[in-house]
Amino acid sequence: MKIATSIIAALFLAASATAVMPDDPLKIDTCTKPGVVALTFDDGPGAYNDQLLALLAKKNVKATFFLLGSMIAENAQQAASLKKILAGNHQLASHTYSHGNLDAMTEEAQRLEISKTSDIMFQHSGVRPAYMRAPEGRCGAPCTKVMESLGLVVSHWNVDTNDWRFKALAPAAATEKSMEEINKVIIQDSNPATDSFILLEHEIHKFSVDLLAERVIDAVIAKGYKFVTMEECVGKPAYLTGSVVPPVVPPTTNTTVPVVPPTSSSVAPSAGVTTGAPQKTSSGPIVPSITTGNKGANSAGLVRAGAWAMGVAAAVGFAML
Ligand SMILES: [Zn+2]
Repeated sequence: MKIATSIIAALFLAASATAVMPDDPLKIDTCTKPGVVALTFDDGPGAYNDQLLALLAKKNVKATFFLLGSMIAENAQQAASLKKILAGNHQLASHTYSHGNLDAMTEEAQRLEISKTSDIMFQHSGVRPAYMRAPEGRCGAPCTKVMESLGLVVSHWNVDTNDWRFKALAPAAATEKSMEEINKVIIQDSNPATDSFILLEHEIHKFSVDLLAERVIDAVIAKGYKFVTMEECVGKPAYLTGSVVPPVVPPTTNTTVPVVPPTSSSVAPSAGVTTGAPQKTSSGPIVPSITTGNKGANSAGLVRAGAWAMGVAAAVGFAML
């Protein structure tokens, strides 16, 4: 009976996977190459962002921040985090504006969640993210199609600290609970020669930043993985056309914040658009260099080179892609 149940369950899962796959080709939950882990932090920018960036700098680890538009709008200190994140060579990504259930929204509301977040992120950083993560992962086939039409990579995950579940526990206990899945999935049951991970944490829980992040980083590195951003994990450019990406900062031990170039409406004409698709073009909402093929650094180079053609700094940023 147990075997029969298992077979039925397996067939159901296989059928489900087969049924879903054709509709969401951009639903990503693993990297395209083995040996890497994309460390991702959701729900910020929060009060502990500076502390987290200092830890990542100390460990020389690059991460991806899936930010909420509403958190950026909340106060100036949180909004200032975006430039600091970019200055640390981390990646900015979208987690929608209000953290609502995208699957329960109309297409118009879904697009507004994205465009409002893209606009406020551009306002405070000069970039428009090409990666998004749906709150609670709720983005079924119809939602995924909408995100695809906006040129976005729908970013899921395959290992979860579940830190939000344990935030009410004492910090040490919460950290141990959060490490359980990391230990099982990555430390015990994986092989860097064949496996890769997109790892989910949240930056808004104090213990996640105080204790968990360093434990995760140390364990993953000890297992033999290298941390990468989502851009390197997936192989598609981090930002949409029109973004003004600052040059890559050499990984030194500096403590100063590099100057982020001023934004200009002449560089990114879609700035200020508050509704509809970000990056609309005369041929439709999809930006071809982002959504067609897997051009990786080539497309990113076009974005960056276009934005930086006026200065010597452009050559630095382009060459280091
Ligand atoms: Zn979230």
